Amino acid sequence: MDDSTHDPVDGDDSARRPRRSRFTRRGFLRTVTAGTALATAGVGTYAATAETVHSADAASAGDGAARTATFRWLGTSGWRVDVGERTLLVDPFVSRFSTGLFDGTFDPDTELTVDEDALAAHAGSPETILVTHSHWDHFNDVPHLAHTTGARVLGTLTTHHLALAYDVDPAQAVPVRGGEVLDFGDYVVEVVDSLHSRNASYSMAFPGVRLSRPKRPRTIADLPEGDTLAFQVTVAGGGPSVFFMGASDFAERNLRGLRPDVAMVALPSSDVTPDYVPRLLRALDHPATVVPVHWDTFEAPLTNPPPATDDARRRLDDLLADVARVSPDTTVVVPEYLTPYSFA
Ligand SMILES: [Zn+2]
Ligand SMILES: [Zn+2]
Repeated sequence: MDDSTHDPVDGDDSARRPRRSRFTRRGFLRTVTAGTALATAGVGTYAATAETVHSADAASAGDGAARTATFRWLGTSGWRVDVGERTLLVDPFVSRFSTGLFDGTFDPDTELTVDEDALAAHAGSPETILVTHSHWDHFNDVPHLAHTTGARVLGTLTTHHLALAYDVDPAQAVPVRGGEVLDFGDYVVEVVDSLHSRNASYSMAFPGVRLSRPKRPRTIADLPEGDTLAFQVTVAGGGPSVFFMGASDFAERNLRGLRPDVAMVALPSSDVTPDYVPRLLRALDHPATVVPVHWDTFEAPLTNPPPATDDARRRLDDLLADVARVSPDTTVVVPEYLTPYSFA
């Protein structure tokens, strides 16, 4: 890819793009389209319809057509991204076994299991898997995918060691920490040092790291948070830049200069992080499109409409209202499972 398609985190270059503008910094035609209706029950107000944004200098679009990139939500914060014939995954978790988390019977001794049929149906043949953190609802399915597809796994040092504990080939388990910019040809991945969500006690489930290879994990408690990353994926040839979160906190300074076209924003599960949406959207320079994630009941089958608890729906409505208030030019897409979306 050429330099014009990517802004390094190098300070304030906001003069190149008006704030709150839907024009992208690369001056491209931008569309948001989806294969099916977008609204989920009760949160349809801001569901997107097909939208086209024209820039003033679309003719200067560069040396080639954007790669075709489609994005399918796998539930939780999971995504399948197909760039041409190549597939990358973010936090794929489709096994969705019950821990009791959503019915008040949460059992930290729940055994880890893999739904091989669901993975075969939905994961495709990934070459790259990006893991934001190593909690079970982000990492559980990754070792199986690494074994069956040969995909390279990018994650924290903890994720690296946990992958080794499942006998993933060390050459596939790539530790990253934030700041890396990695060129995969048809797409570039920028790794962002990020933060995990805070629960109502200002803490989190299963904190901890793994500084060496542990014994093979057996229960969900054997998969600690292990520090948290975010990722920005920029599709080469003028495709969109998409920011992926797996948990609902962030360090504002680490987002400076990313300026994605699309942001997959994790829903907070508590009120202890103030001004979450305003600070996040400001730090990301008001992306043209926001897609809320990690709001569904991820222990129910992966069927539409995505199920959510009453509390999650209330928080989702609050998030949508916050986006409309602080970033009125942003389009919100409330995703449905497995539906192909394109953003360019
Ligand atoms: Zn987590
Ligand atoms: Zn999670």
